Amino acid sequence: MTATAPSGETLWSRCGGCAALLYRKRLRRNLDVCPECGLHARLAAPERIDQLVDPGSFRTLPERAVAVDPIGFVDVLPYPHRLAAARADTGLPEAVLCGTAAIGGSRCALAVMDFRFLGGSLGSAVGELITRTAEQALAAGVPLVLVTASGGARMQEGALSLMQMATVSQAMAELREVGLLTVSVLTDPTYGGVAASFATSADLVLAESGARMGFAGPRVIRQVTGRDLPEGFQTAEFLLRHGQVDMVVPRHALRARLATLLAATGTGRPATKRSGVDAPPPETARPVGLPRTPVRDAWETVRLARHPRRPTTLDYLETTFDGFTELHGDRLGGDCPAVVGGLARLDGRHLMVVGHQKGHSTAELAARNFGMATPAGHRKALRLMRLAARLGLPVVTLVDTPGADPGVEAEEHGQAAAIAENILVMSVLPTPVVTVVTGEGGSGGALALAVADRVLMLQHAVYSVISPEGCAAILWPGRTAAPQAARALRLTAPDLCRLGVVDEVVPEPDGSAADDPEATARAVRQALLANLLPLLEVPTVTLVQRRRRRFRRFGAARASARAGTR
Ligand SMILES: [Zn+2]
Repeated sequence: MTATAPSGETLWSRCGGCAALLYRKRLRRNLDVCPECGLHARLAAPERIDQLVDPGSFRTLPERAVAVDPIGFVDVLPYPHRLAAARADTGLPEAVLCGTAAIGGSRCALAVMDFRFLGGSLGSAVGELITRTAEQALAAGVPLVLVTASGGARMQEGALSLMQMATVSQAMAELREVGLLTVSVLTDPTYGGVAASFATSADLVLAESGARMGFAGPRVIRQVTGRDLPEGFQTAEFLLRHGQVDMVVPRHALRARLATLLAATGTGRPATKRSGVDAPPPETARPVGLPRTPVRDAWETVRLARHPRRPTTLDYLETTFDGFTELHGDRLGGDCPAVVGGLARLDGRHLMVVGHQKGHSTAELAARNFGMATPAGHRKALRLMRLAARLGLPVVTLVDTPGADPGVEAEEHGQAAAIAENILVMSVLPTPVVTVVTGEGGSGGALALAVADRVLMLQHAVYSVISPEGCAAILWPGRTAAPQAARALRLTAPDLCRLGVVDEVVPEPDGSAADDPEATARAVRQALLANLLPLLEVPTVTLVQRRRRRFRRFGAARASARAGTR
């Protein structure tokens, strides 16, 4: 029951927690926290900014969000229609509001997400705006504050939305390098690609009371594991107990707490001009290397990519590489069987190889957790990549995963933060990295091994922000739409090559890799040598700069360059 004033504004609203009927103005005075039960209602970004910053201090960044529809996505509605509706409903151009402000007298750069806008999803424009906010913090020498509220990546932008996790992360890495503080405030809800990147890779992570955060959502976890979830799963208190946030702060204390943190860590460092923050380079010509074979349907490609006889990482380590010595463990108490890695040689050169491991039989698949890495798997991969950099060895990663492990324990052990740390560290790893997507490149779990100088993809592999089944379940009525979703997501190697997410397609033998693993192994070796050898000549500083530019150029940056509005 709601009563409406003649102006159209509701006078009363019912609390979603305790069902108490509350006078709207009183609720507003109480910062939209129910005085009866303490429920923290969701806030729109402008209201959140009003509550957090010193009055009158907020200045919007001059950059405007660019309308982006990079893959021409259509489900039951074309994506531009959904965008237009979100703009009309919220009065915002995108799912984030960015600017500079003062909090308790300390200057900062600030980005506040708005869940009302397409579930706060991380599209190219959102990634671009947050990246520019981070760059503003760097240029002005002030801390960065991020307030997150998001269901995850924006499916309608396919793998380009996934790339935003890397784009924002490397901007965060630059702030980390120069010692500027980053703070994230998790608000309800923060999930998926946002949780697994900047929400958890900040120096300090605060959770607002009542916020829930996780890599996988409760519905997905219940579906996958068939288990009931523990009481309070993924709530702020759960996150605190499992070591994933620094503190839980009720809404009325948030501004004062931020003010204390910003003041304590100091501001007003000299502005630093760094080479990595130049405007994105002009769009480079798409590389050649698209094999001239008949174009297959995307859904058929998905089935080939998942074929049980398709070569696995351990198969490639036997065939493409020589002298593999496996290394185990994350040094924090776990050794995940879904990730294998160690020292190997390629044509006589020493390197570090890390990859997802599936299997050919059901027993093997089960033993390897179907190639779904736990946090321990992501941390093992990171340990090996850091070791490689210390030893001066290049890194090759082989990606073949339906996605990161969406289980209860994975959440308890910090899945989101583990993925976020890999993405951030890989973006500045001081050694060459070449990735080959050999089978399934599933979402954040794939990207956690794929922030590379060169990203190659086998002809019948797929790389996607979400599985076609998952996408269909959310955007279409009924699960039978997975083949349509597969087409809409642009997840095949030729598609991703055109979008610049992938640099080169590695041809597969007639049929597919499953029909001739030896020929596939030779093709992978040839492609790796062709891409890795030139990187060995590049000075480390240049290499890291180029890698940053590679992940800086995605999505909105490219679209605005094309439209000449940058
Ligand atoms: Zn209530």
